[in-house]
Amino acid sequence: MSSLHIYNSLTRQKEKFEPVNPPHVGLYVCGPTVYSDAHIGNVRTFSSFDMIYRYLRYSGYKVRYVRNITDAGHLTNERGEGVNRMESQAKLESLEPMEIVQKYTVGFHHVMELFNTFPPTIEPTATGHLIEQIELIENLIENGFAYEVGGSVYFDVKKYNETYNYGALSGRNIDELIAGYRDLDGQDEKRNSIDFALWKKASPEHIMQWRSPWGMGFPGWHLECSAMSTKYLGHEFDIHGGGMDLKFPHHECEIAQNNGSTGHGGAKYWLHTNMLNFNGQKMSKSLGNSILPMQFITGDHPLLDKAYSPMTVKFLFLQSHYSSELDINIKGLQDAEKGLKRLMDALKEISNPKYHIANVATTALTEIEEQLSRLCGECKTNMDDDFNTAKTIACLFELSTIVNSLKAGIIKPEQLSSDSISMLQKTLNDYLTDVFGLQEDNENNNAKLDEVMQVLINIRKEAKVKKDFATSDKIRNELLEKGVQLKDEKDGSVSWSI
Ligand code: AMP
Ligand code: ZN
Repeated sequence: MSSLHIYNSLTRQKEKFEPVNPPHVGLYVCGPTVYSDAHIGNVRTFSSFDMIYRYLRYSGYKVRYVRNITDAGHLTNERGEGVNRMESQAKLESLEPMEIVQKYTVGFHHVMELFNTFPPTIEPTATGHLIEQIELIENLIENGFAYEVGGSVYFDVKKYNETYNYGALSGRNIDELIAGYRDLDGQDEKRNSIDFALWKKASPEHIMQWRSPWGMGFPGWHLECSAMSTKYLGHEFDIHGGGMDLKFPHHECEIAQNNGSTGHGGAKYWLHTNMLNFNGQKMSKSLGNSILPMQFITGDHPLLDKAYSPMTVKFLFLQSHYSSELDINIKGLQDAEKGLKRLMDALKEISNPKYHIANVATTALTEIEEQLSRLCGECKTNMDDDFNTAKTIACLFELSTIVNSLKAGIIKPEQLSSDSISMLQKTLNDYLTDVFGLQEDNENNNAKLDEVMQVLINIRKEAKVKKDFATSDKIRNELLEKGVQLKDEKDGSVSWSI
């Protein structure tokens, strides 16, 4: 069906993509933990998987895309200890944990819409799948890979390692891990410090707790993804993705849970997106360099020189490979803004009917047609090469140069058959719009700006009625200084222009 090759983190090599049950593809992506606003690093990861989902569909696959919402079980440290993130945020904001979940889920969806990403086809929640998670634990206990102690259940990593390889994905060595953990915990009801929680007994002050065969408690974080991916995609499915920082322990533990319960590791291909940095530093809340998507849109952040649209930010993401670290800086944003405009302008230009004249190909392809055909083919070749968006964009830039030459009259429309013009338009449209999900942001921005301008126009009108000419002149003059002109129309209305 396609010649797609994917870098598989599990085998550490690029492999031909061969779905378990073509043309169907099962894609599972670890979703957000909904206790705070998604930052722009999170957005990079989710928009990378949106591009992957879009390209799989574009290649003809029927994709079931599952991305969960973690609304329980994710504790404050990666080893499944500490307090539940939703609960601690609920205390901070004086809300119910489920109000926290709702608030940040809605916010996350809004951001994903602003970035024009498709929703997953199934978006299951951890709290909605407690029965499946409990069944999975029972299964693991039955198979000898988990044990109960004092109302909690742990995964027995050493036991698992007798049959399987804990560390297969992350390359971690179990003995080194045990040595590293020993000093840290000192707890410990676990058989080994490396064992991770499947179910945790809840102390009475825990708000989010549920009944289980082991008493009141809550699930371990890694469990939900095994339970939900298996439920919706089967024991063996195609692609599992997430950010690089989830490789260990989250994905390693998922594989262990899957093997331990079903005999299959879950996904055939594991994909990991790389981290987003700002000015060379990993973006994180503690360093004070995490920027929220809305701060890009308003420009209201000390590290930004002005507002940047979601499409500009997304274009910047797409200009590097999903598995490379990406450093966001002002220069990159400015270039992305210009680059995106150039490509969108080219698409608009080539969509003009004036180029689509009936012009049947002559016997041989012209030199420019050959170049065009090569570039269009290369877009697919690059995307088939582990979703290489950076190289694909480079081809689109070369195609936009052809459009600009047509526009400038350097290339005459007669030098290109109508088939070639259609191919040029289709390629730009397919990749920019369908595969990358880019769109012109002017329309949205203008609508918003117009709303804001109407507010100012109304305040000025009210000032005039009150004969407060100082205020009405101030509004007109200051807007003029910013290049915005107000015009009093004959019918009494006021229009504005830039
Ligand atoms: P979380 O809500 O913290 O579970 O994170 C959601 C997703 O965002 C995960 O796949 C993380 O790996 C990913 N992520 C977190 N920080 C970054 C970052 N700075 N750059 C890219 N992806 C990130
Ligand atoms: Zn997960």
